[in-house]
Amino acid sequence: MALENGDSKATPKDLIVSFGEMLIDFVPTVSGVSLAEAPGFLKAPGGAPANVAIAVSRLGGKSAFVGKLGDDEFGHMLVSILEDNAVVTDGILYDPAARTALAFVTLRSDGDREFMFYRNPSADMLLKESELNLDLLKTAKIFHYGSISLITEPCRSAHLKAMEVAKEAGALLSYDPNLRLPLWPSPEDARDQIMSIWESADIIKVSDVELEFLTGNDTIDDQSALSLWHPGLKLLLVTLGEKGCRYYTKDFHGAVDAFKVKAVDTTGAGDSFVGALLCKIVNDHSVLEDEIQLREALKFANACGAITTTKKGAIPALPTESEVLELIQGS
Ligand code: ADP
Repeated sequence: MALENGDSKATPKDLIVSFGEMLIDFVPTVSGVSLAEAPGFLKAPGGAPANVAIAVSRLGGKSAFVGKLGDDEFGHMLVSILEDNAVVTDGILYDPAARTALAFVTLRSDGDREFMFYRNPSADMLLKESELNLDLLKTAKIFHYGSISLITEPCRSAHLKAMEVAKEAGALLSYDPNLRLPLWPSPEDARDQIMSIWESADIIKVSDVELEFLTGNDTIDDQSALSLWHPGLKLLLVTLGEKGCRYYTKDFHGAVDAFKVKAVDTTGAGDSFVGALLCKIVNDHSVLEDEIQLREALKFANACGAITTTKKGAIPALPTESEVLELIQGS
């Protein structure tokens, strides 16, 4: 039987391109100790934009990662991880001189995370505008990024150019600032630079902590969230950890509860949430305008975030679609 137009089994999936840093977190083998007290460390590949790319492909979507790595064993290891997860790697470069970024991360007994970064400079900071794979960027239906790539040149200019090229080619721009204060020269600089690209984004996701930081107000409510609204925005999300998320569009707003799970490591929950949501939006933009569809998509994204907290590390904990549906159906 002839297939009608649009009924082809081989409908190509629309591409989500994630731009920025991929690095290795070194996590202590025992928890509740300072970096100095840690007896040893395990490698945990990460970097929020790379986590988002893997989150998308693990859910069955099509994603690419764009960024620069060191031409060293760690850089090649990270690319293999992306390849093993079916992420398109055509936009990745190796820097011949600088190393792949490393971060030593520990969860102290008071619950605070302590970070120590090795970026002096690291390869991701050295991506140049002239090195961008423009053909790949032009095929993105969604272009996703954070703010770490804005901190230093030449990566900052490459980031701005990539946004421009993707937007001109018709992509939706998705922004999750992923605040890492110790990487910025000062908190004021972080706020100014994060806000400098605010109005280009179609979709923005902030955590409760980022909302407080960006507004300078420690109350998390609709008023403080809406103070971040800009006229071209299609969707603003505030994630609230075990309390779920809030959503805002120009026509409606509300909240979607989290799933109850036994969390062991929340690293990557926000990236998993974003990847899941982008998967739901990329082939059907009406999710952004229809509250019932959006709430369904956010329930799915909350389930992804929740599952990611149940295992150690970000990438190993990112779920497949069937794991997500199992959690949703069992709730
Ligand atoms: P980020 O990692 O950016 O700080 P959150 O911690 O708010 O983001 O997590 C993103 C989403 O993951 C939340 O909106 C929620 O749906 C889910 N999530 C995070 N932590 C938990 C938790 N402890 N229990 C259940 N769901 C969680």
